[in-house]
Amino acid sequence: MAKYLFRILRFNPARDEKPYFQEFSYEASEKDSVLDALRSIRDNLDPTLAFRYSCREAVCGACGMVINGQITLACRTILESLKSQVVVIEPLPNFEIQKDLMVDMTPFWKALREIKPFLHPQPEIPEKGYRIEEKQMERIYQFINCILCGCCYSACPVVARGQGYLGPAALAKLYRFVEDPRDKRSFSSWAKVDRPDGVWACDTVFRCHEVCPKNVRPADGIEGLRRKLVVEKIKRLFKKEP
Ligand code: SF4
Repeated sequence: MAKYLFRILRFNPARDEKPYFQEFSYEASEKDSVLDALRSIRDNLDPTLAFRYSCREAVCGACGMVINGQITLACRTILESLKSQVVVIEPLPNFEIQKDLMVDMTPFWKALREIKPFLHPQPEIPEKGYRIEEKQMERIYQFINCILCGCCYSACPVVARGQGYLGPAALAKLYRFVEDPRDKRSFSSWAKVDRPDGVWACDTVFRCHEVCPKNVRPADGIEGLRRKLVVEKIKRLFKKEP
């Protein structure tokens, strides 16, 4: 066990107060995760502390937050790994705070809904099912790992500019589907992201790659979408397709 000083950002918009840091001096095992410590602080010191979590094993993506300046998942961050007895915890940036460490992810989900993140197969399923070559799966595999934690959206400097950018996760997810040989969505349906707040907004500074807890590289997907858009548009020029 070791003594830690947790400095946690507190904010309740329902009250007329400004955000402030509250300090909790707390003894915890070095092997505990930051999420374990937060739950323990809430249970033993302050039941009003608000934060979001569910699976506790980096599957649900609910416990994204900023820990000692790094955007990450609290369940994956072991206290020992921080190499500091002071742990500063803040909510994800680029979202409005609902309370303490809980943020309103509505814009993130809205962007995701817009790209229709599910398979659009052809109406007739092949008699022998779908056969997908391993090489084709390799192209989309990393994007399947996304747990929709919002860390990339939160780290994105383009989202921070507040101009309605769809964000890295939604665009990478779209690439995952348009690159899937089973997906038969029309070009016109996915080409809606061909706009200044869609694929062309990305600054390609790769902050999304740095923070993703599942090693997804969303900017790869955005680059892939850009390439596909250009190729499809050229093809349509010659075929005179709509
Ligand atoms: Fe989270 Fe990575 Fe998915 Fe972004 S791409 S939502 S950081 S898992």
